Amino acid sequence: MAANSASSQLHRYRSLFGDRLQENVTLANYTTARVGGKADALLIAHTTDELAGTVHTLWESDLSFYILGAGSNVLVSDQGVRGLVIVNRARNIRVDTHINPPTVRAESPGTVGGAVYGNAGAYGSDVQHDLVLAEILHRSLGKQTWTCSQMEYGYRTSILKRQPGQAIILAATFALHHGSPEDVKARMESLSSQRRRTQPPGASMGSMFKNPPGDYAGRLIEAAGLKGTRVGGVEISTVHANFFINYENATATDYYKLIQYTQETVFQKFGIRLELEVELLGDWTISSVNPFRNGKNGS
Ligand SMILES: Cc1cc2nc3c(=O)[nH]c(=O)nc-3n(C[C@H](O)[C@H](O)[C@H](O)COP(=O)(O)OP(=O)(O)OC[C@H]3O[C@@H](n4cnc5c(N)ncnc54)[C@H](O)[C@@H]3O)c2cc1C
Repeated sequence: MAANSASSQLHRYRSLFGDRLQENVTLANYTTARVGGKADALLIAHTTDELAGTVHTLWESDLSFYILGAGSNVLVSDQGVRGLVIVNRARNIRVDTHINPPTVRAESPGTVGGAVYGNAGAYGSDVQHDLVLAEILHRSLGKQTWTCSQMEYGYRTSILKRQPGQAIILAATFALHHGSPEDVKARMESLSSQRRRTQPPGASMGSMFKNPPGDYAGRLIEAAGLKGTRVGGVEISTVHANFFINYENATATDYYKLIQYTQETVFQKFGIRLELEVELLGDWTISSVNPFRNGKNGS
């Protein structure tokens, strides 16, 4: 974006949102990997009404924006994001046990919005398995309540993800399954301990790559001998090779170089092109990154 149009856009954000607008905000503080440069402007939405109102105003004014939940599935460029980032903090939850099946309706804070958007999943299940309704605000259709099939889910994708910028998620209702408190507690503990056993602690975005059909990205990266590989402040976890850990002041460029190196190495060894599960967000002038030309563990 040219400097002039960027400053006139900022001026328009200011006139629409006044004191609510924060400027020049470091996005590393809003992502779980703790990397990312500055957004020109940032707004926090505390309720779904505030979120819907903000987005409605922006669409009416034909101004662009990017929405973040917990920032747990995005890699934000070191150059940051031109324009406005909305951080969604709406977090009411309501359980309805008087219907069959019982349901839970959750507003879309980190990480429900991102999960419904990207069909998050683990241990043989995913959002599409239990989603009953998604409440969305659509750019041309207004407020809508969509069924699960209208979301057109696929592996880590949905119609909203395939058509970015057309709609945001305000809340979602999920079906609950009957179980005694003891059974539920035991299942939660078992899944948590499985995670603790198989996944590393530390700042990351969870799985870096999607699993290719019939295989696991983590298995391929490990078989390529890449566990423990470091670039700058990022390391491929020695616990789970699909987790890239920010172990020491990593930059987004470190991440990007390690992503490129991993893709190239896995492709050379197994002929499989790993596809990113995380989204690259912001200003990525990829050619300036010169991805991993300095060799393993270079920077
Ligand atoms: C340690 C760790 C473990 C993880 N484990 C898993 C796992 O087991 N399975 C899995 O699937 N994922 C996993 N993840 C990834 C991530 O947590 C999920 O995908 C999560 O649902 C993303 O939600 P978010 O709010 O952080 O999304 P963000 O990263 O903030 O955003 C991701 C995308 O969703 C969009 N988005 C966010 N909110 C909305 C909204 N309200 N409306 C429209 N679009 C929206 C954003 O614009 C962006 O394009 C893990 C991440 C970490 C850090």
